[in-house]
Amino acid sequence: MASVLDPELKRALAERVRFYNELGIYDFYRRDVTPVADETATVNFIQPEQREEMSPRKAAVAVPAAPDENMFEVISSRPETGVSDPIKALKLIREDLGDCTRCRLAKQGRKQIVFGVGNPEAELMFIGEAPGADEDQQGEPFVGRAGQLLTNMIKAMGLSREQVYIANIIKCRPPNNRTPERDECETCSPFLMRQIATIKPKVIVALGAVAAKTLLAISDSMSNLRGRWYDFRPAGARSNDPNWTSAKLAVTYHPAFLLRDPRQKGEAWKDLQMAMKELGLKAPKKSDV
Ligand code: SF4
Repeated sequence: MASVLDPELKRALAERVRFYNELGIYDFYRRDVTPVADETATVNFIQPEQREEMSPRKAAVAVPAAPDENMFEVISSRPETGVSDPIKALKLIREDLGDCTRCRLAKQGRKQIVFGVGNPEAELMFIGEAPGADEDQQGEPFVGRAGQLLTNMIKAMGLSREQVYIANIIKCRPPNNRTPERDECETCSPFLMRQIATIKPKVIVALGAVAAKTLLAISDSMSNLRGRWYDFRPAGARSNDPNWTSAKLAVTYHPAFLLRDPRQKGEAWKDLQMAMKELGLKAPKKSDV
């Protein structure tokens, strides 16, 4: 039988849910908890310190079961929920991101947020690490030298940039192109998860170690991560389409790494061929490229 929730606790829970919504986290799961005598202890159950444990694969937040179930449904509804047009849904996610200041990168010299580009219904998504100087300047991912190489890789697969969707784990350029910090990836990636759940790709290719480790929450060497498929479900984000629950994810080298070590291009091509086989693609004849 439902018990009456203390108004103060209800208010605290509602505020906490809003706090997570601000971070782009909308999905929560209920977990029955042993009743506690001290209500403070219940509130502490979802204190911010727990964010440290929230890898992107674990971005759903446990909250104690509350009798007023509608409270969570109403507050935690994503703006794109129920929007079947992926163009509109992506626009709503972009609006929700706003002029984002959720992590320190907002104040470390970024010119603009680099959201993602390409076909909103792409079967194939490429996900890199972070925007660089050219991307920061132009507001589009992978437009510099590494971007040119990625474009060539996509062409070699028999596709164009417009047919795929390209994004990064984080959307703002880190100063001096440093590697993104873990907390920056965790703060930003829920928006990427929502983009993935909207686009519903068949195949995702993670470009480089940061993308692979953030998406898969696995810390391993590139040689161990490559050469196999992973079943990928965007953490904390559900698709509108009940028929789409996951994508197949493969890992390959970041194009910037391939520019530094071109000998690895053959290995990257093997990874792309794996993706092509999955998508039923055939490499175009050289004369067509
Ligand atoms: S990197 Fe992501 S979370 Fe950080 S400020 Fe930019 S958009 Fe916001």
